[in-house]
Amino acid sequence: MNDRLYIVVPCYNEEEVLPETARRLKEKMTALMGAGKIAPDSRVLLVNDGSKDRTWELICSLHGEDGLFSGLDLTRNRGHQNALLAGLMTARERADMVISMDADLQDDIDAVDEMVDKYREGCDIVYGVRSSRKTDTFFKRFTAEGFYRLMNFLGANVVFNHADYRLMSRRALDGLAQFKEVNLFLRGIVPMIGYRTDTVEYERGERFAGESKYPLKKMLSFAMEGITSLSTKPIRYITTLGFLIFMVSIVMIVYNVARWCTGNTVTGWASLACSLWAIGGLILLALGVIGEYIGKIYLETKGRPRFLIREVLEDRDEKVD
Ligand code: UDP
Ligand code: MG
Repeated sequence: MNDRLYIVVPCYNEEEVLPETARRLKEKMTALMGAGKIAPDSRVLLVNDGSKDRTWELICSLHGEDGLFSGLDLTRNRGHQNALLAGLMTARERADMVISMDADLQDDIDAVDEMVDKYREGCDIVYGVRSSRKTDTFFKRFTAEGFYRLMNFLGANVVFNHADYRLMSRRALDGLAQFKEVNLFLRGIVPMIGYRTDTVEYERGERFAGESKYPLKKMLSFAMEGITSLSTKPIRYITTLGFLIFMVSIVMIVYNVARWCTGNTVTGWASLACSLWAIGGLILLALGVIGEYIGKIYLETKGRPRFLIREVLEDRDEKVD
C-alpha cells in the first residue's frame, strides 16, 4: 500500500490563479498515482483564508467536479501561517505525508516528485529551498536574504532561502501539533521538531497571476514576528549594552582621576559625566536582567515540548500494538 499524500494550499483572494493551480496539481497528482508513488486516495486540500473574492466558490466547484480536491473554509482571514497550520492539522489525521505550497505557482510543482522520493527514502521533513532569486526584484532579494542572516544572528534557526514549501511526514506533523504557541512562525518551529531532514532545490518563479498578498507592511510584521517569537536574544543585547556603558563610566573615572593627579581639571564636570554614564549603564543593565526573566516567562508560556521521541526499543512479554 502506497502512502497517502495531501497537498495543502492556503488561498487568500486567489480566484485568478486557482483554476490553473488546480489543473497543474491534478496533472502532478495523477502522474504520481500512475507511477505508484502515492496512494490513489491522495488529495489536494485547498484552504480558503477568509477570501473576499470567489475563491471559496471555486474550491466548492472543484470539489464537486473532482474528488481529488478537498476544501477547508476558515471563518475569517487569519493570515498565511494560520491558514497553513489549519490545513496541516486537518491533513495530519488523513495523510501519511503532507506538502504545503503557495497557491500562486511560485513554488515549482515539479519539486514534488523529489520530495516524495526523499520521503520514501526515509526523510520526515523535506525543505524546498530556492536555488536562486533571479525572478525577485533587487529589493525583495536584498530584504529577504538580510532577513535570513539577521534571524540566524539572533539565534533563530531557520533554513536559508526556504519559504513554506515543504514535505512533512505524519509523525513530524504530530510533533508540530505539540507546539502550542499562538504567535506562529512555522519556518522557525519546523527545524525544532528534528527527525531526518533533507532539502530539495527548485527555481522560484514569478507569481502566475494576481498580486502578492504580502505587501511591505505585512512582510515587516512577519519578520518581527519571526524574531520575537523565536528568540529572546535581543534582551541579552540590552544587558550587554548596559554592561558596556557601565564600563565606559569606569574608564571615565580612571581618566578623570589621572587628570586630577596632573592638575588638569574642570570643576564639577568629572562627577557629572561619570555619574551620567554609570547611571545610564546601570539602568540598562537592570532592564536587561528584568528582561531575562520576562524572556524566561515568555518561553515558558509557549509550552513547547521539551523533547520528541523518534522510537522506543523495548522488550515486552505480550505484544502490544
Ligand atoms: N495567503 C493566505 N492568507 C493571507 C495572505 C496570503 O492564505 O492572509 C496565501 C496566499 O494565497 C498564497 C500564500 O499565502 O497562497 C503566499 O502569499 P503570496 O504569494 O501573496 O506571498 P509572496 O509570495 O508574495 O511572499
Ligand atoms: Mg507568492
